[in-house]
Amino acid sequence: MDLFVCADCGAELSVPVERVALPPETHARGGHEPLPPLMEPGTYAVDPEPWRRPWRAWEELSAAETAAAGVYAPVYPVPLGPRNHLVLAPGDTRGTRLVPERCENHCLGIAAGAEPHLECVGCGRGVGFREDDCGLWQTVWYAPGAVVRRPLKVPAPAPPPPDRPSYDGFDGLARWQDLRLAAAAGAALARLLAASGGAPLTLPAGPVTALLGREPARLLPAGPPARRVGLAGPGLPGDGADITLVPADRRTGGPQSPRRTPVGPGPDGGRTPAVVPLPARLWARLALPVETSPMPPSGRPPAGVLRDDYPLPDHPGRLLGPDRHVLRRTLARLPEVREPWLRAVYDRL
Ligand SMILES: [Zn+2]
Repeated sequence: MDLFVCADCGAELSVPVERVALPPETHARGGHEPLPPLMEPGTYAVDPEPWRRPWRAWEELSAAETAAAGVYAPVYPVPLGPRNHLVLAPGDTRGTRLVPERCENHCLGIAAGAEPHLECVGCGRGVGFREDDCGLWQTVWYAPGAVVRRPLKVPAPAPPPPDRPSYDGFDGLARWQDLRLAAAAGAALARLLAASGGAPLTLPAGPVTALLGREPARLLPAGPPARRVGLAGPGLPGDGADITLVPADRRTGGPQSPRRTPVGPGPDGGRTPAVVPLPARLWARLALPVETSPMPPSGRPPAGVLRDDYPLPDHPGRLLGPDRHVLRRTLARLPEVREPWLRAVYDRL
């Protein structure tokens, strides 16, 4: 666990928090409505991408400059701010004061402007931004350099076990969960397209096909030989698939098993199995049978046993398709997009 303190005066600016992978939905937008906090309580993440300001037009930058900014296909505009902003749930921050006049024009909530609008209460230093405007996840962003990480000799609590997904129709938070899953699906589809090497993809029947729909077939050139996509992870060996969808490690965002390599096509032109990590929540939704009980029992039934002591819903929950904004945003930041065939896919988006 870590604690964040002001870089100037040492005042505590957070509760103890545990570092986790940056959620794929971080830069996704909702509609004209307030969203819940991005981060789970007691966690923080680091965004390795350049912060929004200053911006530059894509055409004004050389290939080396855009690559240094982490983008490999046209995005408008290109953000060139400092990397490694920290993001926390607002409720996990302490000792800051909002300066409303420094907030950006906003609608139902507030958004980051040009200058930090969160000050350290101890010394008045601008330390970051709070955002909660409509369509934005509720976040506090601490600027790199404005806060110092103080490691605590306290182990992080055990992560919650990945649970059988619930039927969304009974869940008041279903819409937010759908937004998160759609964003994760958009990021996963970008990595699947890159891993395809330009070959058509054969998706496993069932939830994976239902989620990704016709997008791969529409975007990738037709013609054999196709590459086969499979699910792998606990209880699923993923035998024989060219590209496997595996559960991501909660802390790193990479594959849970260190034996797996998170890459696209291998140097042999594509025969090395590629791995696309999915957030555990999405992987479970695709790989495990859906729990449809309005009141799931505690614990888990034995493997292979499904409850049948309640009526099935009339309209089972359906996942939204991949988030197009996240798909395009992720593709633009994969170095593989410089390959002409993938750049053509990107341009068609
Ligand atoms: Zn301070």
